[in-house]
Amino acid sequence: MTAAKYRRILLKVSGEMLAGDQGYGIQPSILDGLAGEIADVVAMDVEVALVIGGGNIFRGIAASAKGMERASADYMGMLATVLNALALQNSLERRGVMTRVQSAIEMRQLAEGYIRRRAIRHLEKKRVVIFAGGTGNPYFSTDTAAALRAMEIGADVIMKGTKVDGVYEADPVTNPTAKRFDRLPFLSLINQNLKVMDSTAVTLCMDNNLPLIVFNLKQRGNLKRIMQGEALGTLVTA
Ligand code: UDP
Repeated sequence: MTAAKYRRILLKVSGEMLAGDQGYGIQPSILDGLAGEIADVVAMDVEVALVIGGGNIFRGIAASAKGMERASADYMGMLATVLNALALQNSLERRGVMTRVQSAIEMRQLAEGYIRRRAIRHLEKKRVVIFAGGTGNPYFSTDTAAALRAMEIGADVIMKGTKVDGVYEADPVTNPTAKRFDRLPFLSLINQNLKVMDSTAVTLCMDNNLPLIVFNLKQRGNLKRIMQGEALGTLVTA
């Protein structure tokens, strides 16, 4: 078996991804497909940490726009990520992949609390670590949680799984002639206002030299192909 391109990755999966066509909640077939993708790279000896979003269930900013106090709404959003994390844990374990959920918000009956050194130890033992609860703070996003955790655990790269093939100059769904970038500096994401991650997450990656790969997670086998060295998606670097 040839060595994987990356030794330790942080995979960010948005909540929306789990909803599939239904647009809300968790679609079991999507969850199972995702677990399969992850199991394939774990089998290549890649150490996988996951940050999961919650937008398929609750988004703080949307609720606050309708009058809810922002911090309370954000805590609800963070709880939504815990639901997704537990669902994904279940799918992975049904495939025989060992996992641990670590939550940024204490929920001792369901998940370990986030402890950096313990997370690293799990990864070394080839357990998939699912980080739930975002950063544990309102006014942040799970993209920022992904950037933060990736740095804390010494990940080689953040893999941002999306529904499209990478970063485009305009939304390829509404603008089919939009050009896709193979490579891009982080500064361009900010300067060209490309909606890949929020600016807090982008600057964290940029300031700490953490590469990001934006790729199509809907297409089966892509994660494995990237680990095998194929240049899929868009590579964003400092
Ligand atoms: N959230 C938060 N702090 C964090 C991460 C998430 O307050 O560190 C809340 C926020 O309300 C957000 C929701 O959790 O809207 C769901 O996360 P996000 O929108 O990042 O999920 P995704 O878009 O990836 O599904």
